[in-house]
Amino acid sequence: MTPYDDSPAQAVHTAPLIDGFGRAVTYLRVSVTDRCDLRCLYCMSEHMTFLPKAQVLTLEELDRLASTFVALGVRKLRLTGGEPLVRRGFMDLVAGLSRHLRSGALDELTLTTNGTQLERYADDLARHGVRRINVSLDTLKPDLFRKLTRGGDLERVIAGVDAALAAGIAVKINAVALKADNAAELPSLIQWAHARGCDITLIETMPMGEVDQDRTDQYLSLQDVRRDLSSFWALEDSHHATGGPARYVRVAETGGRLGLITPLSNHFCDTCNRVRLTCTGTLHTCLGRDDASDLRAVIRGGATDADLRAAVFAAIGSKPKGHDFQIARPAVARHMSTTGG
Ligand code: SAM
Ligand code: SF4
Repeated sequence: MTPYDDSPAQAVHTAPLIDGFGRAVTYLRVSVTDRCDLRCLYCMSEHMTFLPKAQVLTLEELDRLASTFVALGVRKLRLTGGEPLVRRGFMDLVAGLSRHLRSGALDELTLTTNGTQLERYADDLARHGVRRINVSLDTLKPDLFRKLTRGGDLERVIAGVDAALAAGIAVKINAVALKADNAAELPSLIQWAHARGCDITLIETMPMGEVDQDRTDQYLSLQDVRRDLSSFWALEDSHHATGGPARYVRVAETGGRLGLITPLSNHFCDTCNRVRLTCTGTLHTCLGRDDASDLRAVIRGGATDADLRAAVFAAIGSKPKGHDFQIARPAVARHMSTTGG
């Protein structure tokens, strides 16, 4: 079987993936590379050692693993990284995986990107059935953007967002809330996103991997942000739910939707429907724990599709009940860029 065909073996749906706590796993995030063209302060250290190529899954291996999850009932696939758009051949992977949209096996194929390459790729993404993407953007101040990303060009990201919107792709902005850097700017960032018709989600900094700075200085509770915003905006609870960690409100004054992801001040594990696959083929069933299943070893060991499905079932069966983040120490040693945020 070639990885890109529509053979019946890949279309067969067996029992859905249900973990030991009765949660159906319907959402897979796949990190396609650990590399990135930016070095955000909270995500990477300045001098990252990236993985040797041989350790990273090939495009065919990524397709085979992702397609196995789709065959087992995953309905939503998010490609992330590192920066997915810097992976060579990334658009071939998207093109290949889009067959699951056409077959109806997949509801959504999406990605999370820093937006720097989006202007070039937006039309291709739209052509392959990508309808929504997340773009990470923490500030609209060019100098602060350059500082936070260690060298990034804000204009390119904004051009990327506009290109995606022009291609008919809905854009959700993700912004990490940083006490020292963008706390005061959050209302204008929210207004900017809503004025473009984009949803925006604020994220608390998460203790993932060692970086060069002390994250406790930058930790900003989104419960406090919400309180501040409600002093001048009417925030209406929204029933919009993605099965993910974001709680949504509607800002009456802007008419836009605002998501708040609060891993530290508010646990969200009860309804967790997602698992993560790293670019080395390690399956993490919880973002905040060190549980791991090596699916690369399974496929490189010559596993049949049935062997691979059995390995996936075993891993999902041991998905932990919940995480245990605390801001002062990394809950897990791996970086968000390895796991795929
Ligand atoms: N490079 C892409 C991007 O920036 O959108 C995709 C990968 S990036 C790791 C995914 C998301 O994780 C980004 O929105 C980023 O802001 C977020 N992120 C990275 N490190 C984080 C941390 N320590 N705490 C909270 N969010 C983090
Ligand atoms: Fe790169 Fe995304 Fe991490 Fe920033 S958050 S360094 S853009 S992977």
